[in-house]
Amino acid sequence: MSKTVYLKKGKEESLGRFHPWIFSGAINHIDGRPEEGDVVRVLSADGRFLAVGHIQIGSIAVRVLSFQDVAIDRGFWYDRLRVAYDVRKSIGVVRPDADSTEHSSSLNNTYRLVHGEGDGLSGLVIDVYNRTAVMQAHSVGMHVSRKEIADALSEVLDGVIDNIYYKSETTLAYKASEDGGNGFLKGSLATADDIAVENGLRFHVDWLGGQKTGFFVDQRENRALLERYSQGRKVLNMFCYTGGFSFYAMRGGAELVHSVDSSSRAIDITRANVELNFPDDPRHEAFAEDAFKYLDRMGDQYDLIILDPPAFAKHKDALRNALMGYRKLNAKAFEKIRPGGVLFTFSCSQVVTKDNFRTAVFTAAAMSGRRVRILHQLTQPADHPVNIYHPEGEYLKGLVLYVE
Ligand code: SAH
Repeated sequence: MSKTVYLKKGKEESLGRFHPWIFSGAINHIDGRPEEGDVVRVLSADGRFLAVGHIQIGSIAVRVLSFQDVAIDRGFWYDRLRVAYDVRKSIGVVRPDADSTEHSSSLNNTYRLVHGEGDGLSGLVIDVYNRTAVMQAHSVGMHVSRKEIADALSEVLDGVIDNIYYKSETTLAYKASEDGGNGFLKGSLATADDIAVENGLRFHVDWLGGQKTGFFVDQRENRALLERYSQGRKVLNMFCYTGGFSFYAMRGGAELVHSVDSSSRAIDITRANVELNFPDDPRHEAFAEDAFKYLDRMGDQYDLIILDPPAFAKHKDALRNALMGYRKLNAKAFEKIRPGGVLFTFSCSQVVTKDNFRTAVFTAAAMSGRRVRILHQLTQPADHPVNIYHPEGEYLKGLVLYVE
């Protein structure tokens, strides 16, 4: 018997709007005893075909892969990946052949190739760093399909990449470790150069030990914007991770750049990355320290501050505390930033809406009593596209503020 999910009467409505998630409450019954990660067909109560997708345990019960009755095979993965790659080429982020000898911003070999629902592949993330693709599964279905996906990916990126590193121990702890954990599905550490280039700036990618796929690709355009504000400024890059904003600020002509992160591993990589781009440059210093402690003890010398904290709220229940966290953090920056200073402030929590975030920052500004203008409203770049039927995919929010 084929593996089939039957919805309750009337529960097919969200699928009519192409939303890619089916919640467990919408399901009437399941035939064929599928295991978690299997491909299932989804039918309406009266037996009409609706979608095909990966079944999983939890409140999201099915992640839809197609609204057409197609086989989920190598050809399917190939087609989806091919389109994803074409989109990245049209965006203009695939620029591997530019002159790499200068700090020319034309070279770029770092981009997100697959952004989950945004690319019709719910549960899958793939980032490309030079000749290595790092693949991350957020669903058991993608984990089960990883080898088939890697085969299709090798074909789509033939001649473009040499390595595929699979990294799902943090996203699928139980499943990934059961099946041997992180590792190369193509190539090896010996062939994988860990230096990649973003807009002409070089950096080490920490695939093995780092957060996410090893670098925060989603801040590329916001970093480029920061570069334009950096001339002659004293910059504080708070929550710097591996220093992305710092080396852009340096290229932009900052007078000094201080990078702060609580992780000493991140600080070591930040130092190495600055060294790669600006060897022996005395303008940069990095500190492994807690953000709040640093903000409390620092003076008022900074006139360009970046606040890019980790997601304060991972779940809806944590929203109140998260908003309080954003308010406290931003209040410190408003209190200390120099007159005429510019603040780049972000939230990457999916459950925090643009309005929530704006209110938290507004409250922080009001507490300081300073005159504040919104110069830019930032979001994620085009290689992190939002599926129009899945607005939840819009997660990165940023404000650039001028503080009188
Ligand atoms: N801006 C970075 C990404 C930031 S990710 C980039 O462009 O790449 C968030 C970072 O915050 C992580 O590196 C994490 O180590 C750090 N972090 C988390 N809690 C912290 C705290 N209390 N104080 C300082 N850093 C913290």
